[in-house]
Parts: sequence; structure tokens; C-alpha cells
Amino acid sequence: MTDIRTFQYFADNQFHDPIDDQWIDSENPATGQVWARIPDCREGDINRAVTAARTAFDEGGWGRMHPAERSRIMRRIGDVISTHADRLGSIETRDNGKLPGQINPALQPGAWLVDSWHYYAGMCDKFEGSVIPAEAPDIHNYMTWEPFGVVAQILPWNSPLGTLIWKLAPCLAAGNTVVMKPSEQSSASTLELMDVLLEADLPPGVLNVVTGYGPTTGAPLIDHPDVRMVSFTGGTNGGKAAAAIAARQVKPIVMELGGKSPQIILPDADLDLAVHGAASGIFPAGGQSCISGSRLLVHRSIIDEFTDRLVKVVSKARVGPPDDPSTRIGPMANKPHYDTVLSRIAAAVEAGHDLRLDGRSACRDEGYYIGPTIFANVPNSADLAQHEVFGPVASTEAWDDEDEAITKANDTIFGLAAGVWSRDVARAMRMAARIDAGTVYINNYFNAAAQSPVGGFKQSGYGRENGWEGMRCFLQTKSVWLSTNPDQPDPFA
Ligand code: NAD
Repeated sequence: MTDIRTFQYFADNQFHDPIDDQWIDSENPATGQVWARIPDCREGDINRAVTAARTAFDEGGWGRMHPAERSRIMRRIGDVISTHADRLGSIETRDNGKLPGQINPALQPGAWLVDSWHYYAGMCDKFEGSVIPAEAPDIHNYMTWEPFGVVAQILPWNSPLGTLIWKLAPCLAAGNTVVMKPSEQSSASTLELMDVLLEADLPPGVLNVVTGYGPTTGAPLIDHPDVRMVSFTGGTNGGKAAAAIAARQVKPIVMELGGKSPQIILPDADLDLAVHGAASGIFPAGGQSCISGSRLLVHRSIIDEFTDRLVKVVSKARVGPPDDPSTRIGPMANKPHYDTVLSRIAAAVEAGHDLRLDGRSACRDEGYYIGPTIFANVPNSADLAQHEVFGPVASTEAWDDEDEAITKANDTIFGLAAGVWSRDVARAMRMAARIDAGTVYINNYFNAAAQSPVGGFKQSGYGRENGWEGMRCFLQTKSVWLSTNPDQPDPFA
């Protein structure tokens, strides 16, 4: 029997037990054993966190702080995070199954999760207002940018620290205060981060974290009257539920949702690069990535060779525990998701799809392991091609001409990301322009940077994270009219 670690929720720069003393067990997906417990926050806890955030906004002056001072704190947060990279990474690995090689390097100085803080630290004073030409010389109109106030941020389980930092850094840089709700499946690294951030001089109440389930913690948080804006990352169904709650009080919401991203392989592609690159765009993190390019649309002339080589390449990837350095694919992050992925594979087999590689051979008695799974010749209309599996499962389908490839790529409710593999850069750029997706990769996949906007078309969401737009979402404009004319016209004369 291992010791079970208790994490408390975080409000007003202090850790708290849940008022109702209700807790949620957290499993280590590598073993299936409970290793921690997190608070199941309800109304009293949510009120405490939102009140702290509102007080920090109204009275604490975070939004009115001199941008240079806010920028200093933001930079310090990035530095503190990198100082504690191993500690944060090891919690994420234990709680979520992420491989150390996929999380720890991202938390090092100069790497993307630290860079986000430094990038937005530099943007604290870059949103300049403007003077707008008005019709009379003595009427002046100017525009300023203002934060919303308290922002609720709702997070998924697949990449807790990554998804958190992308929305948190620009939101704080804009002068908002935050109440965050990580996924009930993986809250530990977020709560550990709060302990780390106590070193960063963040004033009390600026950042608060409540944990719990979507309907009983996330929904009342979004609905809280003092929450003025929402940023949601998660599945499309969860996003629709969150948006419906936000709409009751006309709260703006940014949505980063699911996808079923295509990768188009052209006949002139460097096949070796395309096979390895396309595989790298699907299977790392066990396919538990929103932009996983799991719908492979391959030109008919090369599809047999491509599929054979893909099977050969990914068969070699070792599926195993994250703490084994030879592991390339770790476990599914939690039991409910493991069961879902297995049932989607079983349904695809039942539907008669051509199973070329069966990742179920990696399943073990302990832990939630599934290996790379490849189905060939799956029509784009099939459930497997239309709906996100969010696991290590890919399908291939053939196309004959460019128009057909684009039609198939766009024939889904999603529009998150896409890949194009070709030696002909002009042709690849032409295709990229016709694909309905927020991000298109040409001859690479998975690159991301604090400077570059990410987000979805269609039901993959709206609003953007990263870049200028990532901060603009957390600001609203105000138009101020000033008259210097002492002779105001009298409408009643
Ligand atoms: P999910 O939608 O089930 O849950 C996401 C969050 O929403 C969780 O914190 C959950 O508790 C909360 N939630 C669920 N129902 C809610 C409700 N009714 N009211 C308020 N909150 C609610 O998603 P998930 O399974 O945690 O994450 C996987 C999904 O996230 C995948 O679809 C993946 O593609 C997507 N994702 C998208 C991005 C992106 O940037 N577009 C990034 C990562 C993950």
C-alpha cells in the first residue's frame, strides 16, 4: 500500500481543504493505483475562490498595476517554473502518464512553456490605445483596452501544464484575475504549480484553482455572477455545454476544442520523411493530443507502400511505463479514457475496417496501455474517420486528385489542424490555403510557439491562444468621448 498524497485547492494564495470534505481519487495511469486525492470543490469553495479573484481585481489593483511591474512578475513566473521543472514534470508524469521527455524539456529555460511567460511579460505594455478622428475639432474620441475582471479557465486532462500556461499567461498579462478548474482526471500538477508560484510574488487572489467535476464544479464556476469571461479547453461536447452556461449571462467565451485532423500525403512526398513525420504527428503522447493528425489521406499511387512502412515504423515504438527511458508511448491518461479507446477500436473492427496493426497487444494487467493501432482503407464517412478517438489510432484512405483530397480533408465538423507532405512547396501552399483548419503544417507536424496563434475553425472552437490574438481575447475595448467645447448645443432651446 503506497502513501496517498493529498492536494488542497488554492484560493487567495492559501491552500484549503474542501468545505464539504469531499475528495476525488487520482490514479497513476502507469499502474492503475490511486496515488493522490484532490478536492471535490462545490459552491462554498467556488465562492471563496471567486471572491478572492474579484477582490484582487477590484481592490488589489492587478489590472491597474503599472504594466512594467506586472511584466516583472510575469517574467519571474517563467523563471520560477523553469527552476522547478523536474518537480512539476514528475507530478505530471505520475498523475497523467506523460513521458518525462515530453514534459520536462518544455519547462526548461527558453523552452515553450517558460517562453510563454516571457513573451507575454513583454506584451503587458504593448496594447496601445488609439485616438480616433472624430467629426468636430473639439470632440475627441479615444480607445483603450481593458481587462474583463475575473476569468474562469476550464482545462482538459491531456496536457495539464501545457494547456494551462497557454491560457493563463496572456490572461494575467492583460490584467485579469483567474479562477482555474483543471480536469478532475489530472489536477495534481496544476496544484503543485500553485505552490511553486508562491515564490513569484503574485499578489493574493490573482490566481486561484478549484478542482472537481465538470457539471458540479466547472458549471457553477462559469455561471458565477462575478465571473466575467470564460476560456475553455476540452472536447466539443464539453465546450458546447460550457458555452450554453456562459450564454445565460452573455459572457464571452474562448473555446479550444477537439479535432479529427487530416494529414495529406502527396505522391511527390519524400516518403521516408512523410512516414516518420506523419507517425510523429499522431502517436506521441499515445495520440492524446488535440491536433493529432490521425486521418491519413494518401495518394492512391503510394498508399500501399506508405501504409506498410508506417506499420513497420510504429511497430518498433516501445509501449510502457513513463519512467522507463526506452518507452516511446506511455499509458492512456486515465481508466475511463482507456475504456473509451478500447471500445472505439472494437467498434472499428466490428464495422469491418482493415486492421493492419492492433495496439491491444500492448494491454497489461496493470496500467492503461494501448499500442499504435492502424486501420487501412477507412472511408471518410466512417465513424472512425469522423469522430476523435484521442488515442493511438490512425486510419488511411486513398485519393486520386487534389480536389478530392481537399474535399475529404474538409469533410468533418472539425477544423483544428492539418498536415501536407510534398516536395512541391508551391503545391503544398496551395493546398494549405484550401484546408479549413486553424493550423496547417507543411512537411512537419506539432510545432508550436508562444508567438504563433493556435485555435480552431468550425466546431474545433473560436478565439485563439498564443501570439497577439491570444492576449487580445482577454481584453475588451472602451471608447471614450471627450468634448473641449464649452458651447454645448442645447437640444431643448
Ligand atoms: P472535456 O470536455 O470532457 O473536459 C474538459 C474540461 O471541461 C474538464 O475540466 C471538465 O471537467 C470540464 N467540463 C466538462 N463538462 C462541463 C460542463 N458541463 N460545464 C463546465 N465544465 C465542464 O474534455 P477532456 O476529455 O478533459 O479533454 C479532451 C478533449 O480536449 C479532446 O477533445 C481534445 O481534443 C480537447 N483538447 C483541445 C485542445 C485545443 O487546444 N484545441 C487542447 C487539449 C485538448
